[in-house]
Amino acid sequence: MSHIKDFEIDKQICMQFEEDRERFAGAVVPPTFQNTLFTYPTLDELSEAVQFEKQHYVYGRGTNPTVEIVEKKLAALERGEECKTFASGMAAITAAIINSVQSGDHILCVSHLYYSTMELLKYLGKFNISHSVVYSTNTEEISQAIQSNTKVIVLESPTDMSYRLVDLPAVSRLAKTNGIRTIIDNTWATPLFQKPLTHGIDIVVHAASKYLGGHSDVLGGALITSKKIMKSIFDKEYLLMGAVMPPSEVTLLLRGLRTLPLRLLAHQENALKVAAFLESHPHVAKVHFPGLATHSDYLLGKKLLTGYSGLMSFELREAHYRQVEKVVNKLKAFKIGVSFGSFESLVSSPNLSNNEGQLLREHISPGTIRLAVGLEDINVLIDDLKQSLMD
Ligand SMILES: *Cc1c(COP(=O)(O)O)cnc(C)c1O
Repeated sequence: MSHIKDFEIDKQICMQFEEDRERFAGAVVPPTFQNTLFTYPTLDELSEAVQFEKQHYVYGRGTNPTVEIVEKKLAALERGEECKTFASGMAAITAAIINSVQSGDHILCVSHLYYSTMELLKYLGKFNISHSVVYSTNTEEISQAIQSNTKVIVLESPTDMSYRLVDLPAVSRLAKTNGIRTIIDNTWATPLFQKPLTHGIDIVVHAASKYLGGHSDVLGGALITSKKIMKSIFDKEYLLMGAVMPPSEVTLLLRGLRTLPLRLLAHQENALKVAAFLESHPHVAKVHFPGLATHSDYLLGKKLLTGYSGLMSFELREAHYRQVEKVVNKLKAFKIGVSFGSFESLVSSPNLSNNEGQLLREHISPGTIRLAVGLEDINVLIDDLKQSLMD
């Protein structure tokens, strides 16, 4: 089973890889290089370094030894050539997208994307960059939605809120045939449970603020791609936008990564049980979680995912805001809040009470509740859901 071997390699990457202890006096944890610049013995050497900033430590907006360690780990986890980290997931996504388009181009979105990614695409209209959404994960329908000026396909798999899967090898082949670049937001699966570059996707982005960090105490993003694409991103979107992940934050991310394999297995175990419980509940119309054998993409998931993280949604039979509010407010172990990927269980809803029409147009039930299943005892979580769903 090659994915078991992969998981073994990934554990090693999370804990040991690139932590060259001899370089740092044997320190078991690498030091945080809390400095903005690096000095050189001669002007000549500085001049050389400035011209090849990606390969040299010059200034903190370019490279930093602590930051480099986490970047090498993330590139290795995705089986990619290079990684750069960013101040947030949105900074990484923005860099990936604006590097891929120019005025007059079109961006195709596959089904549901993270809310702020959609807002960014709307904002890019200001620069004469258009976008459209195909509310399907079917490769044929994606193919039909391609326009003559489509330059990039942006996707999440599983998709936001509906947790449908995209056939990554098929869509990346389709894109390549049409000279289109593919970008995937791999935050849900993390590189441990899905490696999109190995299926031909061009750029992977992550919100490190979620599972990678894992403790709700660090904001960050990452972009992993080929050397060739990274060269242009580093020179432009990275250095010029300047949205770097600070070394102090990277130190927290490095700490988070050490337990990522263990945490993910524990999230998965709890999430599978929560999903099964919800599926059997009479007040629940549908559970959206690719780990359920009844999920429409379960078999595709067996090919693409090597595990399931803890984020899912379900639909109440009584699909309106008052009912969603009633159930959510009764939860105690699940705290009401945005985000996911950390030790704590969270609950939220895309239904903001005044947007039910919009949700229906986007094929999302107004009775949808999103759960981020955390690392608490499973009985505490199930009991909490039981009492909140009681009449
Ligand atoms: C949180 C999140 C982002 C944005 O990350 P930030 O660090 O909050 O900017 C992007 N995509 C997905 C799927 C996310 O969950």
